[in-house]
Amino acid sequence: MYDKSNIFAKFLSGEVPVKKIYEDEYAIAFNDINPQAPVHVLVIPKGEYTSFEDFSAKASDAEIAGYVRAIGKVSRQLELDKSGYRLLVNMGANGGQEVPHLHTHIFGGAKLGRMVTVDNTPKS
Ligand code: 5GP
Repeated sequence: MYDKSNIFAKFLSGEVPVKKIYEDEYAIAFNDINPQAPVHVLVIPKGEYTSFEDFSAKASDAEIAGYVRAIGKVSRQLELDKSGYRLLVNMGANGGQEVPHLHTHIFGGAKLGRMVTVDNTPKS
């Protein structure tokens, strides 16, 4: 079930204002509130999809193509296409997904270091 009260749903509905750095028919993009790199942008689809799992299973071909193209356009708009960047989609509990609306992180502006850190903290 899609939770319409999540913060990204509120950005899309306009209930909570957000400074959009990009918008088209399929997606919007905005800066992450807690940046983990010099450039840290989130791109979200306009449709109500909880996660990559949900989106990849249920979105139309047009929505999927539109979303992927939007991510590419934002990366070029930010002039990251020459220097390089990293895309990250967290999915579910092990992925560490916090907001239940699909979002792709775009990181850039510096060398990004190790790709993945595994949390080895013992479970309590
Ligand atoms: P996740 O862990 O779900 O992949 O990433 C969620 C991201 O959303 C985090 O990087 C977090 O900083 C960002 N975020 C959470 N709440 C807000 C908000 O209210 N505004 C913005 N711009 N980013 C947010």
